[in-house]
Amino acid sequence: MPELPEVETVSQGIKSKLLNCKINKVLVKRRDLRFKMDSKFEQKILNTKIYDVSRRAKYILIHLNNGLTIIIHLGMSGRIAIDSLSSSEKKFKHTHLEIFMSNKKKMKFIDPRRFGSVLLCETENIDKHKLIKNLAPEPLTVKFNKTYLFLALKGRSADIKSIIMNQFIVVGVGNIYASESLYKAKIKPNRSAKSLSPLECDRLVKSIKKVLKRSIKLGGSSINDYSLVDGNLGFFQREFEVYGKEGKFCTKKTCHSRILRIVIAQRSSFYCDNCQK
Ligand SMILES: [Zn+2]
Repeated sequence: MPELPEVETVSQGIKSKLLNCKINKVLVKRRDLRFKMDSKFEQKILNTKIYDVSRRAKYILIHLNNGLTIIIHLGMSGRIAIDSLSSSEKKFKHTHLEIFMSNKKKMKFIDPRRFGSVLLCETENIDKHKLIKNLAPEPLTVKFNKTYLFLALKGRSADIKSIIMNQFIVVGVGNIYASESLYKAKIKPNRSAKSLSPLECDRLVKSIKKVLKRSIKLGGSSINDYSLVDGNLGFFQREFEVYGKEGKFCTKKTCHSRILRIVIAQRSSFYCDNCQK
Protein backbone atom coordinates (compact mmCIF):
# COMPACT_ATOMS: atom_id res chain seq x y z
CA MET A 1 0.00 0.00 0.00
CA PRO A 2 1.42 3.42 -0.88
CA GLU A 3 2.30 5.35 2.27
CA LEU A 4 2.78 9.08 2.84
CA PRO A 5 6.28 9.36 1.32
CA GLU A 6 5.12 7.60 -1.85
CA VAL A 7 2.05 9.81 -2.10
CA GLU A 8 4.15 12.95 -1.55
CA THR A 9 6.53 11.73 -4.26
CA VAL A 10 3.62 11.25 -6.66
CA SER A 11 2.18 14.70 -5.87
CA GLN A 12 5.54 16.34 -6.50
CA GLY A 13 5.91 14.28 -9.68
CA ILE A 14 2.56 15.39 -11.07
CA LYS A 15 3.37 18.99 -10.19
CA SER A 16 6.77 18.91 -11.85
CA LYS A 17 5.41 17.39 -15.05
CA LEU A 18 1.94 18.85 -15.48
CA LEU A 19 1.81 22.27 -13.78
CA ASN A 20 0.09 24.94 -15.91
CA CYS A 21 -0.90 22.34 -18.50
CA LYS A 22 -4.36 22.27 -20.00
CA ILE A 23 -6.59 19.19 -19.97
CA ASN A 24 -7.39 18.44 -23.62
CA LYS A 25 -9.20 15.12 -23.35
CA VAL A 26 -10.48 12.83 -20.59
CA LEU A 27 -11.20 9.14 -20.90
CA VAL A 28 -12.96 7.31 -18.05
CA LYS A 29 -12.98 3.54 -18.44
CA ARG A 30 -14.42 2.54 -15.05
CA ARG A 31 -16.29 4.66 -12.55
CA ASP A 32 -16.92 2.01 -9.90
CA LEU A 33 -13.86 2.65 -7.77
CA ARG A 34 -14.04 2.69 -3.96
CA PHE A 35 -16.37 5.67 -4.31
CA LYS A 36 -18.26 6.06 -7.57
CA MET A 37 -16.74 8.67 -9.86
CA ASP A 38 -18.79 11.73 -10.82
CA SER A 39 -20.86 10.92 -13.93
CA LYS A 40 -19.92 14.33 -15.37
CA PHE A 41 -16.21 14.09 -14.38
CA GLU A 42 -14.99 14.46 -17.98
CA GLN A 43 -17.07 17.59 -18.73
CA LYS A 44 -16.23 19.21 -15.41
CA ILE A 45 -12.47 19.09 -15.88
CA LEU A 46 -12.18 19.44 -19.67
CA ASN A 47 -10.30 22.55 -20.89
CA THR A 48 -9.19 23.52 -17.40
CA LYS A 49 -5.58 24.09 -16.35
CA ILE A 50 -3.70 22.52 -13.44
CA TYR A 51 -2.55 25.46 -11.33
CA ASP A 52 -1.26 23.60 -8.27
CA VAL A 53 -0.79 20.10 -6.84
CA SER A 54 -0.64 19.40 -3.12
CA ARG A 55 -1.20 16.59 -0.63
CA ARG A 56 -3.27 16.13 2.52
CA ALA A 57 -2.64 12.86 4.39
CA LYS A 58 -2.65 10.26 1.62
CA TYR A 59 -4.86 12.30 -0.72
CA ILE A 60 -3.31 13.86 -3.83
CA LEU A 61 -5.01 17.18 -4.56
CA ILE A 62 -4.87 18.47 -8.15
CA HIS A 63 -6.18 22.04 -8.19
CA LEU A 64 -7.77 23.28 -11.41
CA ASN A 65 -8.31 26.87 -12.55
CA ASN A 66 -12.12 26.48 -12.65
CA GLY A 67 -12.46 26.26 -8.86
CA LEU A 68 -12.45 22.46 -8.69
CA THR A 69 -9.93 20.08 -7.15
CA ILE A 70 -9.42 16.45 -8.16
CA ILE A 71 -8.89 14.30 -5.05
CA ILE A 72 -7.02 11.06 -5.73
CA HIS A 73 -6.49 8.28 -3.21
CA LEU A 74 -4.33 5.36 -4.32
CA GLY A 75 -6.00 2.84 -2.00
CA MET A 76 -4.18 -0.49 -1.74
CA SER A 77 -2.81 -0.90 -5.23
CA GLY A 78 -3.35 2.39 -7.09
CA ARG A 79 -0.68 4.04 -9.22
CA ILE A 80 -0.32 7.17 -11.27
CA ALA A 81 1.72 6.96 -14.44
CA ILE A 82 2.63 9.81 -16.74
CA ASP A 83 3.50 8.91 -20.31
CA SER A 84 4.79 11.00 -23.14
CA LEU A 85 2.38 10.63 -26.04
CA SER A 86 5.23 10.96 -28.50
CA SER A 87 7.22 8.02 -27.15
CA SER A 88 6.13 4.42 -27.40
CA GLU A 89 3.44 4.27 -24.79
CA LYS A 90 3.60 1.70 -22.01
CA LYS A 91 0.27 -0.09 -21.60
CA PHE A 92 -1.02 -0.95 -18.14
CA LYS A 93 -3.86 -3.30 -17.30
CA HIS A 94 -6.54 -1.84 -15.03
CA THR A 95 -6.19 1.71 -16.31
CA HIS A 96 -9.44 3.36 -15.24
CA LEU A 97 -8.76 6.96 -16.16
CA GLU A 98 -6.64 8.74 -18.76
CA ILE A 99 -6.14 12.49 -18.87
CA PHE A 100 -4.52 13.95 -22.01
CA MET A 101 -2.56 17.12 -21.36
CA SER A 102 -1.57 20.04 -23.58
CA ASN A 103 2.15 19.25 -23.21
CA LYS A 104 1.67 15.92 -25.02
CA LYS A 105 1.71 13.94 -21.80
CA LYS A 106 -0.96 11.62 -20.52
CA MET A 107 -1.73 10.94 -16.87
CA LYS A 108 -3.22 7.56 -16.03
CA PHE A 109 -4.82 6.16 -12.91
CA ILE A 110 -4.19 2.43 -12.64
CA ASP A 111 -5.70 0.34 -9.85
CA PRO A 112 -6.13 -3.46 -10.06
CA ARG A 113 -8.01 -3.80 -6.76
CA ARG A 114 -10.07 -0.61 -7.12
CA PHE A 115 -9.82 0.48 -3.48
CA GLY A 116 -8.55 3.81 -4.73
CA SER A 117 -10.72 6.76 -5.66
CA VAL A 118 -10.91 9.82 -7.91
CA LEU A 119 -13.28 12.52 -6.67
CA LEU A 120 -14.09 16.14 -7.40
CA CYS A 121 -14.56 18.90 -4.84
CA GLU A 122 -14.82 22.68 -4.90
CA THR A 123 -11.34 23.92 -3.99
CA GLU A 124 -12.62 26.42 -1.42
CA ASN A 125 -14.51 23.65 0.39
CA ILE A 126 -11.72 21.11 0.41
CA ASP A 127 -11.20 21.35 4.20
CA LYS A 128 -14.89 20.55 4.70
CA HIS A 129 -14.86 17.47 2.43
CA LYS A 130 -16.01 14.33 4.28
CA LEU A 131 -12.70 12.56 3.68
CA ILE A 132 -10.56 15.54 4.71
CA LYS A 133 -12.39 17.39 7.50
CA ASN A 134 -11.62 15.02 10.39
CA LEU A 135 -8.00 14.35 9.53
CA ALA A 136 -5.40 14.85 12.27
CA PRO A 137 -2.29 17.06 11.80
CA GLU A 138 0.29 16.34 9.13
CA PRO A 139 3.40 14.70 10.65
CA LEU A 140 5.78 17.10 8.88
CA THR A 141 4.16 20.29 10.18
CA VAL A 142 4.90 22.14 13.45
CA LYS A 143 1.43 21.18 14.70
CA PHE A 144 2.76 17.68 15.22
CA ASN A 145 5.18 18.22 18.11
CA LYS A 146 6.16 16.61 21.43
CA THR A 147 3.52 18.49 23.45
CA TYR A 148 0.78 17.56 21.00
CA LEU A 149 1.78 13.89 21.06
CA PHE A 150 2.18 13.73 24.85
CA LEU A 151 -1.32 15.17 25.34
CA ALA A 152 -2.77 12.89 22.66
CA LEU A 153 -1.41 9.80 24.43
CA LYS A 154 -2.90 10.70 27.82
CA GLY A 155 -5.15 7.96 29.16
CA ARG A 156 -4.62 5.73 26.13
CA SER A 157 -3.63 2.22 27.07
CA ALA A 158 -3.48 0.90 23.50
CA ASP A 159 -0.04 0.09 22.13
CA ILE A 160 1.99 3.03 20.85
CA LYS A 161 2.35 1.57 17.36
CA SER A 162 -1.41 1.46 16.76
CA ILE A 163 -1.74 4.97 18.18
CA ILE A 164 0.77 6.57 15.81
CA MET A 165 -0.94 4.75 12.93
CA ASN A 166 -4.30 6.18 14.02
CA GLN A 167 -5.37 8.79 11.43
CA PHE A 168 -7.18 10.79 14.11
CA ILE A 169 -3.90 11.31 16.05
CA VAL A 170 -1.50 11.96 13.17
CA VAL A 171 -1.99 11.22 9.47
CA GLY A 172 0.15 9.21 7.11
CA VAL A 173 2.26 7.07 9.43
CA GLY A 174 1.68 3.62 7.96
CA ASN A 175 2.86 0.22 9.07
CA ILE A 176 6.38 0.37 7.64
CA TYR A 177 7.19 3.86 8.93
CA ALA A 178 5.67 3.15 12.36
CA SER A 179 8.11 0.25 12.90
CA GLU A 180 11.05 2.28 11.59
CA SER A 181 10.25 5.37 13.69
CA LEU A 182 9.80 3.38 16.91
CA TYR A 183 13.15 1.69 16.35
CA LYS A 184 14.86 5.05 15.86
CA ALA A 185 13.13 6.40 18.97
CA LYS A 186 14.15 3.32 21.00
CA ILE A 187 10.56 2.56 22.01
CA LYS A 188 9.03 -0.93 21.86
CA PRO A 189 6.00 -1.04 19.49
CA ASN A 190 3.79 -2.80 22.04
CA ARG A 191 4.38 -0.31 24.87
CA SER A 192 1.22 1.18 26.30
CA ALA A 193 0.85 4.65 24.71
CA LYS A 194 0.19 6.42 27.99
CA SER A 195 3.46 5.09 29.48
CA LEU A 196 5.61 7.28 27.18
CA SER A 197 7.51 10.07 28.94
CA PRO A 198 7.69 13.60 27.46
CA LEU A 199 11.28 12.84 26.46
CA GLU A 200 10.18 9.70 24.61
CA CYS A 201 7.40 11.65 22.88
CA ASP A 202 10.02 14.14 21.74
CA ARG A 203 12.24 11.35 20.39
CA LEU A 204 9.29 9.69 18.64
CA VAL A 205 8.09 12.90 16.95
CA LYS A 206 11.62 13.62 15.72
CA SER A 207 12.03 10.03 14.49
CA ILE A 208 8.75 10.05 12.57
CA LYS A 209 9.70 13.30 10.83
CA LYS A 210 13.19 12.05 10.05
CA VAL A 211 12.05 8.69 8.63
CA LEU A 212 9.34 10.28 6.46
CA LYS A 213 11.60 13.07 5.18
CA ARG A 214 14.33 10.62 4.28
CA SER A 215 11.89 8.46 2.33
CA ILE A 216 10.44 11.45 0.50
CA LYS A 217 13.95 12.49 -0.45
CA LEU A 218 14.75 9.02 -1.80
CA GLY A 219 11.44 8.75 -3.65
CA GLY A 220 11.74 12.20 -5.11
CA SER A 221 14.96 11.35 -6.84
CA SER A 222 13.56 8.21 -8.46
CA ILE A 223 10.70 9.64 -10.48
CA ASN A 224 10.62 8.76 -14.12
CA ASP A 225 8.06 9.13 -16.87
CA TYR A 226 6.54 5.72 -16.55
CA SER A 227 6.12 4.84 -12.97
CA LEU A 228 5.63 7.54 -10.42
CA VAL A 229 4.42 5.15 -7.80
CA ASP A 230 4.20 1.48 -7.16
CA GLY A 231 2.81 -0.18 -4.06
CA ASN A 232 6.04 -2.09 -3.58
CA LEU A 233 8.71 0.49 -4.13
CA GLY A 234 12.06 -1.25 -4.06
CA PHE A 235 14.03 1.93 -3.57
CA PHE A 236 12.44 2.62 -0.19
CA GLN A 237 13.05 -0.89 1.08
CA ARG A 238 16.78 -0.53 0.72
CA GLU A 239 16.73 1.92 3.59
CA PHE A 240 14.72 -0.03 6.14
CA GLU A 241 16.45 -0.81 9.42
CA VAL A 242 13.91 -3.18 10.96
CA TYR A 243 10.92 -3.55 8.63
CA GLY A 244 11.00 -7.02 7.04
CA LYS A 245 14.31 -7.78 8.78
CA GLU A 246 13.16 -10.54 11.13
CA GLY A 247 16.13 -12.69 12.22
CA LYS A 248 18.71 -10.20 10.87
CA PHE A 249 21.18 -8.54 13.23
CA CYS A 250 20.25 -5.15 14.63
CA THR A 251 22.00 -2.37 12.70
CA LYS A 252 23.47 -0.78 15.86
CA LYS A 253 27.12 -1.83 15.96
CA THR A 254 27.18 -2.24 19.73
CA CYS A 255 24.05 -4.43 19.74
CA HIS A 256 24.27 -8.14 18.95
CA SER A 257 20.56 -8.93 19.06
CA ARG A 258 18.44 -10.03 16.14
CA ILE A 259 15.33 -8.23 14.94
CA LEU A 260 12.07 -9.76 16.17
CA ARG A 261 8.63 -9.78 14.56
CA ILE A 262 5.38 -9.58 16.48
CA VAL A 263 1.84 -9.04 15.27
CA ILE A 264 0.03 -5.96 16.58
CA ALA A 265 -3.51 -5.25 15.39
CA GLN A 266 -3.06 -7.88 12.67
CA ARG A 267 -0.01 -6.09 11.24
CA SER A 268 3.60 -7.28 11.35
CA SER A 269 5.79 -5.19 13.62
CA PHE A 270 9.56 -5.40 13.73
CA TYR A 271 11.80 -4.32 16.60
CA CYS A 272 15.00 -4.93 18.56
CA ASP A 273 14.28 -6.18 22.06
CA ASN A 274 17.65 -4.93 23.24
CA CYS A 275 17.64 -1.36 21.85
CA GLN A 276 13.95 -0.57 22.31
CA LYS A 277 12.51 -0.11 25.79
ZN1 LIG B 1 19.50 -3.56 18.84
